[in-house]
Amino acid sequence: MRKLYLTFQYNQTMRSDTHNQPASAGFAKIARSARLKPAEGFTFRQANRPTNPPKRIDLLAGRSKVGRLWTPLVILLFLILSACAPILNASQPYYFVTAQSAPTLTPFQPGQATPAPTWPIPPSATPSPTAVPTLTATHAPPTSTALQSGFESTPDLPETPASRNSDELPTYNINALWNYTGRSLTVAQEIIYPNRSTDTLSTILLAVNPNLWHGTFALDSLTVNDQAISNYTLSGQTLTLPLPAPLAPGASLRIGLTYSLILPYSSGTFQNFGYTARQTNLIDWFPFVPPYFSGQGWVLSEPWTYGENFAYPLANFFIGLSFTEASPPTVAASAPAIQQGNMLRYVLRGARTFTFSASYDFQATSSEENGITVTSYFFPEHYDAGQRILLETQAAIRTYQNAFGPYPHTSLAIVETDLNDGLESDGLYFLASSFYANYDGSAANDLVMIGIHEAAHQWWFGGVSNDQALEPWLDEALCTYSEHIFYEENYPNLLNWWYNVRIRYYGPSGYADTRIYNTNSFRGYVNAVYLRGALFLDDLRDRIGDEAFFAFLRDYYARHQGRIATADTFFAVLADHTSNADDLIGSYFYYR
Ligand SMILES: [Zn+2]
Repeated sequence: MRKLYLTFQYNQTMRSDTHNQPASAGFAKIARSARLKPAEGFTFRQANRPTNPPKRIDLLAGRSKVGRLWTPLVILLFLILSACAPILNASQPYYFVTAQSAPTLTPFQPGQATPAPTWPIPPSATPSPTAVPTLTATHAPPTSTALQSGFESTPDLPETPASRNSDELPTYNINALWNYTGRSLTVAQEIIYPNRSTDTLSTILLAVNPNLWHGTFALDSLTVNDQAISNYTLSGQTLTLPLPAPLAPGASLRIGLTYSLILPYSSGTFQNFGYTARQTNLIDWFPFVPPYFSGQGWVLSEPWTYGENFAYPLANFFIGLSFTEASPPTVAASAPAIQQGNMLRYVLRGARTFTFSASYDFQATSSEENGITVTSYFFPEHYDAGQRILLETQAAIRTYQNAFGPYPHTSLAIVETDLNDGLESDGLYFLASSFYANYDGSAANDLVMIGIHEAAHQWWFGGVSNDQALEPWLDEALCTYSEHIFYEENYPNLLNWWYNVRIRYYGPSGYADTRIYNTNSFRGYVNAVYLRGALFLDDLRDRIGDEAFFAFLRDYYARHQGRIATADTFFAVLADHTSNADDLIGSYFYYR
């Protein structure tokens, strides 16, 4: 049944990370030589390198053969169930929202380091009682012009060191009232946006992910420096905001928005924003200003059927969250909550985004180590798995801090959820309920392998961001190879297993720098970007040795933390550590 489930799962669109799936690709033997040596200040235990296909592979291959017998039934089931998928805009379990009078919100006051805002004002709008959200994402790839105008050719590190000062970052003051059972929010939001580029800006873009669903996002007011703006355009995920006056380099402005969200049903197969039967995930739920690079413009890529598409500049978040319910659900968030009366207050400085997940069914366990509190949110039937992934995530934090550099925050939330695979956010990651259900008591399973992959995204996504659409390898290849580093350090006897079930089984092909728009299947995308990308890093390590390899990774992280990396800046740092990798780069990368 698992094969049947997975086959159906992968025939649909998805926007998440990946785990192992039996495939028809043959087992590819890759001759390797043992070469593990401890890097300076970083000790690895020796592990056995794989020499023969392990028993696990035989089991998977056998299951794959059985799976082929199910193919006609799977196709039929897919066709039936596809009719219910949001992407097809057909019938699905939408719930009508009942209009209620919204309690007055208390304006949220951010920390003292930020100028005291006169915003947000209490939102006055209430959700439409008859609106039914439907998903209308077109999945159209950007035009070739848009691709060519990307920032991938940026010759230098894209932001100045001064821009990493927390006080100079964009600031989001958000005050949200959440009607959890009614599946709607009313929001007042202020963005203090400093122009840190050398260009004078006449227009600002906002990324509005909820507007990909019809009837979900309703903008009630929009102001710039308290001046009402009516000549904006909102199309798909992009709000284009003409400024009343040009914004000079070094100057700041204040954008004010009030809006409501009528949450869509989350299928877990296209994005994961919205509600399911037992939880609601607020992912990319508020408008944000995408990165801007001097002389090149905004970095805002269109969504695609798989893979993420945003790049996030570093920002400070001050969020007040209230519920209409007298007994609100348990809330997991990108930062710990401070209870102030009926409001949950969150402060997260120097982060990429801010994500919530809420459920009345959550149980939670927390553990603090070296100033970092990890909290595991799980459903009651998965208690053992919830405890295990908490411990393994703490081990991953230890490993990655040694290998890459310091964890950027003081908390990390692990959230069980009804989606495929895993999905990263900043200070929070999601992990599929199916992994918890299939937890077998070992570390050789999707729960641990994908969990610690998502934990690695706190470095390669949170610490160092990138354009996830045009250069997805910059976070996914590094996170996949981080799995290798985790098992090598914590479960050396499982490194053999990892190589085989994660990489060799698929015989991956394709260029590591494949864009999300340029592959024909989710599996092909994963094989090229995740797996070939990880193999490049492994071959690079073979070539230059452990000491130079980990010195490079630590240097790359230190020089990019809080910034947005590009392939050019990645290879610029690498060039400081070796001049002996050009042939490897040429064989793994199309655009080099
Ligand atoms: Zn990932």
